[in-house]
Amino acid sequence: MSVAVIGGGYAGMAAAVELVCQGQQVEVFEASRTLGGRARAVAIDGGTIDNGQHILLGAYSETLRLMQLVGADPQRLLKRLPLRLEFPGEMRLVAPRLPAPLHSLGAILFASGLAWREKFAALRLIYALQRARFRITPDVSVLSWLEQNKTPSRQRRLLWEPLCVAALNTPAGHASAQVLANVIRDSLAAAREASDLLLPQADLSAMFPEPAAQFITQHGGVVHRAHRVSGLQRTGQGWLINGQGPFRQVVLAVAAYHLAALVPALRTTVEHFTWEPIVTSYFTYPANVRLPQPMLGVAGGTAQWLFDRGQLGGPAGLIAAVISARGKHLDLPTAELEQRIHHEISHIAPSLPAPLRVQTITEKRATFACTPNLLRPDMYTGLPGLWLAGDYVASADPANNYPATIEGAVRSGVRAARAETA
Ligand SMILES: Cc1cc2nc3c(=O)[nH]c(=O)nc-3n(C[C@H](O)[C@H](O)[C@H](O)COP(=O)(O)OP(=O)(O)OC[C@H]3O[C@@H](n4cnc5c(N)ncnc54)[C@H](O)[C@@H]3O)c2cc1C
Repeated sequence: MSVAVIGGGYAGMAAAVELVCQGQQVEVFEASRTLGGRARAVAIDGGTIDNGQHILLGAYSETLRLMQLVGADPQRLLKRLPLRLEFPGEMRLVAPRLPAPLHSLGAILFASGLAWREKFAALRLIYALQRARFRITPDVSVLSWLEQNKTPSRQRRLLWEPLCVAALNTPAGHASAQVLANVIRDSLAAAREASDLLLPQADLSAMFPEPAAQFITQHGGVVHRAHRVSGLQRTGQGWLINGQGPFRQVVLAVAAYHLAALVPALRTTVEHFTWEPIVTSYFTYPANVRLPQPMLGVAGGTAQWLFDRGQLGGPAGLIAAVISARGKHLDLPTAELEQRIHHEISHIAPSLPAPLRVQTITEKRATFACTPNLLRPDMYTGLPGLWLAGDYVASADPANNYPATIEGAVRSGVRAARAETA
C-alpha cells in the first residue's frame, strides 16, 4: 500500500522526496495546479513572479540538501551573499569573509551608522545569549527582551527590530524572543556560511517543488495536481482519500488553517494560532533601473526591504518591495501604498522614472504569528498512521522551533517521513 502526502508545499514535497528515498510508494495530492504552497510561482502577464519575495539563509541546511538531492543546484538557483543589512543613509553592516565568530564580530565592529556604544551593546547582547546557551527562560516578547537588556533605541530600530520582523514575520512587541534566539544561534552565531543570505534566482516553484515532483515521478511516485482532498477517512485497512485508497499512512502537510477542515479532531491543536500578513509589490521599471545592491532596507519607510530582481536572474528593472507583518500599511488603498513605495525607491535610485506596471500581492495568512510560548501541535496526531508536517509543527526539541519558514517546513516534512518509515 502507498503512503499519501496531502499538500504540495515545501513540507509535503520534502516528505515525499524523503519517502521515495526510503523506497516507499508515494502519492502526493495538491489542491492547486502549481506546487509550492505559500512559496510558489504566480503566472502574470505572460511572465512569472513569486507570490511573495523570499529570502533563505545559509543555515537552511535541509532545504539545501534536498535541493541538491533532486537536482536543483543551489549554486545556480540561489545567489549567495555575505550577510549584509543596509539602510542607505542610516546604517550598513556587512559580514566580512572571515571564519566564525570573526565574521559577526567584524560585521558589528565595522558597521557604519552605529555609535561605539551601540556596537558594544550589540556584542554584549550576543555574548549574553551565548552564555545562556540561547535559552530565554521564561520566553518573553522580543521588545521586552531588548528592554531587559537595555538595548539602545537606535540599535533596536535599525538592527534587532528589522531582524525580528524579517525572521519571524511578527512585530517585536508580540514576537517570541526564544524563537529569535534559535534563529540567531543557527545563523549569526554559527559558522560564517550559515549567516549568508541566499536570494532566489529562479521562481520558488522551480527552486524545489517542481524538481522534487520530477524526482518523485522518476522514482515511481505520483503527484496529483489540482486534486483537493475533501474526505479523509480511517478504515480497517488504512486511510481513504476522497474515497480512494486505502493508503497505509498519510502525511498531512497542509497549512495550519486548513487542518481542522480535514481532521476536525485536531481543531483544538491549532485554534489558538493567529496569522500575520506579508505584502509584496512588484514594480516594473525600464530595464536601465538598478538598485545599488540586490537587497536594501528602507529605514522608517512604508516598504521594509527592496530586492532588485534584475540582479537576481529576473528581468532588469523589476524591483520587489516587501512589507512583513501587520501594520498601518494594510489600511491604505493599494494605489496609495504603491505610490508611497515608488517614492521611497526614488530616494535610493535617483531620477527614477514612473513604473511601467505595478503588481501587489497581499498574503493575509502568510505565516503564523510567532508569539512567546506558542503551543504547537506535535507531528504524532494520536490517530494511527496520520502524521503532521508543516512550518507550524513542533520540533522534537523546542530549542529547535523555527518561525514559519521554508527551512522549518522542510525539516518538518523530512522528520514526518522518517517517523513514518521508522
Ligand atoms: C509572502 C510570503 C513571504 C515569505 N517569506 C519567507 C522568507 O523570506 N523566508 C522563508 O523561509 N519563509 C518565508 N515565508 C514562509 C514560507 O513560505 C512558509 O513557511 C512555507 O512555504 C510553508 O510551507 P508548508 O509546506 O508548511 O505549507 P504551505 O506552503 O501552506 O503548503 C500547504 C499546501 O497544502 C495544499 N493544500 C491545502 N489544503 C489542501 C487539500 N485539502 N487538499 C490538497 N492540498 C491542500 C495547499 O494548496 C499548499 O500547497 C513566506 C511566506 C509568504 C506567504
